[in-house]
Amino acid sequence: MAKRIDRVLINRRTIADRVEEIAHEIADDIRREVGDARVDAAEPADVTLVPLLTGSVIFLADLIRHLPLMMRIGMIGVSSYPGKATRSRGVSITSALPVDLTGHHVTIIDDILDSGRTITAVRAELEKLNPASIKVCVLLRKKTPQARAIPVDYVGFDIDDEFVVGYGLDYDGYYRNLPEVVTLTEEAMA
Ligand code: 5GP
Ligand code: MG
Repeated sequence: MAKRIDRVLINRRTIADRVEEIAHEIADDIRREVGDARVDAAEPADVTLVPLLTGSVIFLADLIRHLPLMMRIGMIGVSSYPGKATRSRGVSITSALPVDLTGHHVTIIDDILDSGRTITAVRAELEKLNPASIKVCVLLRKKTPQARAIPVDYVGFDIDDEFVVGYGLDYDGYYRNLPEVVTLTEEAMA
């Protein structure tokens, strides 16, 4: 069988360490905004994470286990790279938000920031729902002028402008389960 994985860009240990650091940054900011947000605090905190399906699920799962805070999760489906596309083809939100965001401190969680269209579209939709604040957290950001022009609050890693998979990111639905962030060979993307 042809070789599919070209290079490992970010290994498991590096991802795990950085995810823990980001969780601490998020927790510090949430405490600054809402005060005591511990799970055993007297009052529940108005905190909601909004992860974008499907690419952010692995990141989300690792991230929230370093956040011992009272919070809800409102996942939404967003589609921008249908099938074998490796460039964004416009954004559509494919599911309704299952929680009320009114007055909540919201953190959008996504796998990767590329053109910024996804984050910009989702932020605009969520702003209509009267949240107290919106922050954006992405695991990866492409080193492109478009990506850097988008305001985001937490970035795991800045990476070169190439198509990556693994740790939640897919190509045609596959490779999300790889524990590392990798590039694929030309044969794998044929
Ligand atoms: P943007 O809207 O910023 O162009 O793209 C964001 C979305 O496109 C991400 O949530 C992700 O689903 C997808 N995407 C962007 N770059 C990559 C990439 O290098 N690999 C994969 N697998 N998906 C990407
Ligand atoms: Mg995505």
